[in-house]
Amino acid sequence: MTERYTQRSVRGESTKRERERKDERFLIVINPVSRGGNALKEGMWLLKELRKLNIDHEAFVTQNPGHATTIVERWVNSVDCVVAVGGDGTANEVVNGIKSGGGDRKTFCVFPAGTADDYCHNVGIPRNRSGALDVMLNGRDRKIDLLKYNGRFAVVQLGVGVDAEIAYRTLSHKKIRIPAYFAVGLRIVFIERLQHSARRMRIEGENGVHEGRFLVAVFGNAPLYARYVYWMPEARMDDGIINMSAVGPMSPIPAWFLFLRCFNRDYRSDRIIYDSGRRFKVFLEEESFIQVDGEVYKYASGETLDISIEPLALKVRVPSETPIEAPFVNP
Ligand SMILES: [Mg+2]
Repeated sequence: MTERYTQRSVRGESTKRERERKDERFLIVINPVSRGGNALKEGMWLLKELRKLNIDHEAFVTQNPGHATTIVERWVNSVDCVVAVGGDGTANEVVNGIKSGGGDRKTFCVFPAGTADDYCHNVGIPRNRSGALDVMLNGRDRKIDLLKYNGRFAVVQLGVGVDAEIAYRTLSHKKIRIPAYFAVGLRIVFIERLQHSARRMRIEGENGVHEGRFLVAVFGNAPLYARYVYWMPEARMDDGIINMSAVGPMSPIPAWFLFLRCFNRDYRSDRIIYDSGRRFKVFLEEESFIQVDGEVYKYASGETLDISIEPLALKVRVPSETPIEAPFVNP
């Protein structure tokens, strides 16, 4: 059964916080299994604050994968702002619900409670509770592009390759996600033969074709991914362009160093193929692991990813100090 919390503000009653948007109504969608099960605690803190501040909202706790999309589809048109409490996977489900529910004029916000929180890092939403609440209530609205692939939307990035394989193999370690990523990553790189993780594919873009075996090919909307890695340093969230970064088969030690050097946002490597455009088609020539905003899927050989960009397709709430004219990237 869906837990539902309701709080309606009394019109005319003053709130503790001076807010421009006094009549705004929020839909809060909490994914209790995010951040190793700690997201529920974050969500409960948020609901307590909203009640204290007399902020009009509806809140739901999701019960299973896909539930966030269903909730948002149903409720998006009776609220002004939809808030995902969880990580990038939750953000992805909520955004898909906003789009399929016809909520194009509604605002999307995230209250970070995930493991990587790549969306929040990229748009500058702080990971501390009061900072994130402040963005939600007092932030600025602006539009970002969305990536579309095979009829669904991705918010930050989607990728094919060893990163998705690592995520797939850490699915059972929800509570120790980051150490598990490093452990499985080290295992694949140093113990198993890294070359075995490279997959044969054909990537067709506007600037040409990249064909061969790739360890990782990521298509993104934002520079930072996997929390620390500036894998697509040139990517912007509102430029109407998809950025791709791919790397072919490499031996373990250089691959590990390449990964670590991408922690520096100014680093560029001639081992990485950088490309960009408004559309990419990926033909998978072997069974492959795909991750979309951190959620992992296995695709069979012969399947195709058709990736395009929907310019300025989502209204998002970001910190008010973000200059509106600046390229949309976390400073
Ligand atoms: Mg872009």
